Amino acid sequence: MKAAYLPGNSTTDLREAPVPEPGHGEVLLRMKASTICGSDIRCIYREHLGKGPEGYQGVIAGHEPSGQIVKTGPGCRHFGVGARVIVYHISGCGICNDCRRGYMISCTSEKYRRAYGWQRDGGMAEYLLAEEKDLIHLPDELSYTDGAQVACGFGTVYEGLEKIGISGNDAVLITGLGPVGLATGALCRKMGAQKVIGIDVVEARMKLALDLGLCDEVLKSGPENVADVKRMTGGQGVERAVDCSANDGARATAIRATRKWGKIVMLGEGGRVEFNPSPDIIHDQKTIYGSWVTSTWLMDELVERLVRWNLHPEDLVTHRFELDRVGDAYTLMASGECGKVAVCFDEELRKGR
Ligand SMILES: [Zn+2]
Ligand SMILES: [Zn+2]
Repeated sequence: MKAAYLPGNSTTDLREAPVPEPGHGEVLLRMKASTICGSDIRCIYREHLGKGPEGYQGVIAGHEPSGQIVKTGPGCRHFGVGARVIVYHISGCGICNDCRRGYMISCTSEKYRRAYGWQRDGGMAEYLLAEEKDLIHLPDELSYTDGAQVACGFGTVYEGLEKIGISGNDAVLITGLGPVGLATGALCRKMGAQKVIGIDVVEARMKLALDLGLCDEVLKSGPENVADVKRMTGGQGVERAVDCSANDGARATAIRATRKWGKIVMLGEGGRVEFNPSPDIIHDQKTIYGSWVTSTWLMDELVERLVRWNLHPEDLVTHRFELDRVGDAYTLMASGECGKVAVCFDEELRKGR
C-alpha cells in the first residue's frame, strides 16, 4: 500500500509499505478520511519537536483517521467487518487510572501508550491497523470525513466546552479561528450560545468564520480587542472564552475580555501567556481551565449528539486531496490559508470540491 511519512523538513515522503495483518484484538481499516491537525504541522511536519517516547517515531503520519473495517483479528468483541468507525487517536494500555477514565491521551504506561501517527502507524495510508478498544462507532448519518474531524479536533473542543459549560446564557469569545476555533464556533451554536465573537490574524479564516455562520462578529487581532469585546457585550465582557490560538497576546485577551465569574478554557498547545493574577482573575472571580483531548466515552456521546444536532464537521473541510497529493495537502495546511484539510479515499474523495 502507499503510505505517507513526515521527515521533519516541511516535506512529505510517500512510499510503499506492507498492508498490515490484524493480531489479537486488532482490526484492519480501509482508510476513508484522514484530516491534518495543527499539531502535525507544528510538531512533526516542520520539525520533529519532542524527543524520546513522546516524539514522532518515523511512523506513517495522520492521527485523525476514520475508515471501514475490512478484516478483524482474533479476540475482537464488538466490531465486525463492514463497521464504520472513528479511531480515538491515542492507544493506551487500557489498565492505568487515566485509561480507566477513558483518557487514553494521558495513559501513564511508557510501553503501551502510542498515538496513531506519532508512535504507531496513522491514517495517511490506504490501510490502518487499529486496536478494537480505540474505535468509536460512526453512525450512518455521518460521513467518514465527519468522523475524522471528531477523532481529534471536535472531540477536543467538545471536552473543553463541557468543562466550562456553554448555554443560551453565554456570549463566547474564540481566540484563534483555525480548524479548532471554527469547530468551537460550530459546537457553541448547537449548545445554545447566542453570541459568538472570534479573533484571528488571517483574513481568510476570519471570512470563513463569518461565511459559515460560526461567529456573529470577527475582530482582527490587536491591542483594542478587549475594549472591542466589552463594547459588544454591554461593557461586561463574555461569559465564556476559548483559546484556540496558543498565542501569548490572544490568550491574555481571552482572560481579560471575560467578565466577572466567567470561565476560560485553553485548548491551543504550546507558547506562553502573561497576565496579572489580581486584576485579571482573582478580583473578578474567574476560572481558567486546561483541557487536553477528550475521553472515549465523551467522544461516543459527541457522535450521538452530532446526529441529533444535524451538525456535520466535514463542513469545515475546505480542501480534499487524494493520497497521491498528500504533499500538497500538508503544504496548504502549513500555509494557514484554509479551513480543515483532508486526505480522502473512495466515496469521500468523490465528494471533493
Ligand atoms: Zn489532532
Ligand atoms: Zn493506560
